[in-house]
Formats: sequence, structure tokens, C-alpha cells
Amino acid sequence: MKKPILFLFLFSILTASTQTASAQDKYLQCGSIVDTESGEVLSEKTLVISGNRIKSIEDGFVNGSKTDTVIDLKNRTVLPGFIDMHVHLESESGPKAYLDRFTNNEADLAFNSVGFAKSTLMAGFTTVRDLGGSGVNIALRKAVDNDRVEGPRIFTAGKSIATTGGHADPSNGMRKDLTGDPGPKEGVVNSPEEARKAVRQRYKNGADVIKITATGGVLSVAKSGQNPQFTVEEIKAITETAKDYGMLTAAHAHGDDGMQRAIKGGIKTIEHGTLMSDETMEMMKENDTYLVPTITAGRQVAEKAKIDGYFPPVVAKKAAEIGPMIQSMFERAYKKGVPIAFGTDAGVFPHGLNAKEFGYMVEGGMPVMEALKSATVTPAELLGMGKELGQLKAGFLADIVAVEENPENNVDTLENVVFVMKDGVVYKQ
Ligand SMILES: [Zn+2]
Repeated sequence: MKKPILFLFLFSILTASTQTASAQDKYLQCGSIVDTESGEVLSEKTLVISGNRIKSIEDGFVNGSKTDTVIDLKNRTVLPGFIDMHVHLESESGPKAYLDRFTNNEADLAFNSVGFAKSTLMAGFTTVRDLGGSGVNIALRKAVDNDRVEGPRIFTAGKSIATTGGHADPSNGMRKDLTGDPGPKEGVVNSPEEARKAVRQRYKNGADVIKITATGGVLSVAKSGQNPQFTVEEIKAITETAKDYGMLTAAHAHGDDGMQRAIKGGIKTIEHGTLMSDETMEMMKENDTYLVPTITAGRQVAEKAKIDGYFPPVVAKKAAEIGPMIQSMFERAYKKGVPIAFGTDAGVFPHGLNAKEFGYMVEGGMPVMEALKSATVTPAELLGMGKELGQLKAGFLADIVAVEENPENNVDTLENVVFVMKDGVVYKQ
């Protein structure tokens, strides 16, 4: 819907002989803007958007020429679009999720994911890292890139890599005749050789990043939520191969032993980090390994575990035990200076509630400006987009959101995003 307008527009420019070379620009008159790098809030600025990029930032409220569009955000605080480093756009947790595995076809996942992608974008998350699904998430990325679906910019892992019986073994908990013996193609590996093949297979499938499940997990139908599930050699084979293809690596980990193996193996981001020891926090700092906390997911699953029958019993027990620990671990990690990148695990809870994480981070002792940096500047750098995303700066991609108040005065305002622009296109106003 956006492209034809652009074409028509370009056409009209080409046919208007007196028209100057510059296309129509958008002038965003902002009451204040947040400099996510310095943490400063600057008042009365105009962001000039040309095509999909920020052309310049002007002092005061500037109008441009007659053909330009002015967008009034004078009563708003304007920020770069948020980046969530841990979502699952194919699914949303619920009491039926375990049955869905047996009834849903990929087409069902695809249709569902359209709504999830839109909720995410409308909540101000203009970029996400999708850390695992069936592979529909790769098709979803293409659909968003081609303007067929409204959603955030997606960096996707495709299907996660696990070991046999591990957290992302797709046949966990099934009866014998259904389990089969999934291998590297399906993302299940049991040696460094197989690990390399699984990474290359993901590259071939069109994944952008690699996700492994370094320890047991809460929501899988398996007893332990924290045992280590890869050897250091297998993890090294994965990170070395991922490096060949320029793919960022992430490891789901609740247990401390598995986290240490992931760090030693060269993984860049540790997801959840629930039972992280002080020693592991030191290792994270030494190796420049980032924690992606997902406090929201922890709190939500602990809450749902109280509802009888919401999870299978083996899952409910883990959810009640592990869920509430994440926020206190985050508090310790932040105090110790562990590098932190914003991530929620949306999909474990309803998509679009991602900004709740900001409030939980602030509750855990992190100043709101640092939480904002962890959701903008930091993930942009991790994704190799540090010069294009995460800041309101001339030359950067025009991913821009606005909220009603200065988040320093009220962090909850971030849960109510009133304006969303992605790639220079307005999606919410
Ligand atoms: Zn996850």
C-alpha cells in the first residue's frame, strides 16, 4: 500500500518540470527528543525525514516548504524505535499451546504471526530479534521487508539449535511413534560436526542469527529447567561456524554451568541468565558477553503457573520456581556492571506488552535512561546496525516513536506509544 503511493509521487515529481530535485520530506516537530547515547532530553527540535532516513535535526519547530508534510509532536517525547533482542513472533503462550503443536500447520503459524508482528510494531518496537520458531519467522521477515505485512524489522534465528531431549528438541514430550530422531537439519545436534552442519543449514534457510538452548528450559515438557545441554566443544563449533557467516549467537540459559560453557564457547548474548553466579557475572564482563534478561517472561510464567491446568504439571513446577528469580538476578548483574541488552521473550506472554520490561528494569535498579540505551544503542551495535539504528541522528534510518511524557518522570509512559514510524513510513499516529 505504501509503494504505489511512493511511485505515483516520484512520477509526479518527474513530470513536474519546475520541481526541485528533493522529494517530499516529513518534518516532525518534537516537544522533546531523547538522545539515547548521552541520555539527555533535548527540547523543541524538528526531525527532517527524507525517504527512509533522518536528513537533519533542526533547533525549534521548522516547517519546510509547501510540499513537505508537517507532523505535530509538540506535546510528545520522541525517541528512536525500540529494539527487543528476544521475541518469538510465530506463537503466543496459552493453555492450548501444547495441543497447538499437534494441530497447527505452518500456514496457521503464518497467519497468527501477522497479528503478532503488528502488535509488536504498534507498541513501538521497530526492530526485533526472533530467537526461534519453526522457520515461518524467516518467511515473516521477507513479508515485512516486502511491505506485505506490517511489522518490525526482523533478525531471525529460524529454528533454534538443541541437543537430543534438550529445550528446543521439537519432539520433546511426544509419544514414541511421533518422536523420530531429529538431526542437524531440524536443529538437533550431538557432536561438533553436527553443530557445524546445523549452523550452515540455518544460513542456507535464510536465518540471520543463531540461537542455541544451552540449558533446560521452563516451557519444554522435560524435567530439568537448568541442566547444561551442550559441551563446550559443540558450542565452539557453533560460534566459530556462525562467525564465518557473520551471524550473531545467542544462548538460552537458566543454569549456571550451562551459562559458563556458553561464555567459554564464545556465545555473545546469554538469554534469561536466571541462576547466574557472581563468578559467571565476572566472566560475562571479561568476555564482553551480554545478558538479555527477559524479566517480563519470568514474571508472567510464574503468574500463569498459579492457574490450575494452564501448563502441564512438569512445566508448572519449573515456571513457579524459575520465573520469579530473573528480576533479582538482573538487579545483581546490573550492580556488578554486566553488559545488558533489552529483551523480553514476548510470545511467552502476549505480543505488544514488550515495554513492560522497562518498568521491571527500573524496579531492578537501572535508571530509565540506561534501560532505554539497552533497548536502542546497545542492541543496534550487537546487530551490526550501530551506525543506522538506535539513535536520532542525521543519516540514521527513520525508526521513530513518541510517548506522552518524559519517561524519566514516568517510565510507564513507554507502554503507551502514540506514534510509530519505521523506515520513514508512519504506522501509528
Ligand atoms: Zn525465548
